[in-house]
Amino acid sequence: MDRVWAPWRMEYIASTKCTEEQGCFLCAGNRSDPDSLVVAKKGKAFVVMNKYPYSNAHVMIVPERHVANLEDLTDEELMDMMKLLKLSVRVLKETVDAAGVNVGVNMGRAAGAGLEEHIHIHVVPRWFGDTNFMPVLAETKVISEHLIETCRKLKERFEALL
Ligand SMILES: [Zn+2]
Repeated sequence: MDRVWAPWRMEYIASTKCTEEQGCFLCAGNRSDPDSLVVAKKGKAFVVMNKYPYSNAHVMIVPERHVANLEDLTDEELMDMMKLLKLSVRVLKETVDAAGVNVGVNMGRAAGAGLEEHIHIHVVPRWFGDTNFMPVLAETKVISEHLIETCRKLKERFEALL
């Protein structure tokens, strides 16, 4: 990465509530208004839909704190994340009839992390014979409409359960 001296950046940082290191898209999503893709919040963690999903209703469990490493999370943060994971599995079964769920964390670039500075747990609902799901939804417009509709459904269900 090129490093450029940029004094105006200090002003930009000072004018926003977040610090520079908290400026990732997960942090931004958590801070933004109701039409963000955040579908649930509890304690020190939240659930957000993946904008570039592996499958329909692919969500991520995220600690509010901008933390890269699993080993740096507090017990409280881990507990809130696990509670949201449990709830997410239930919501995916009840809302999109998930027949199975994949749960996983990519830690570090070498492990395939797309955003390695803010840890998150992927929760991907699965159905029998769903391997052709993405090609069916390959068109961007279809995905975004689908995403918003699914987002609305998930939010409603989480709200009812939390
Ligand atoms: Zn972050």
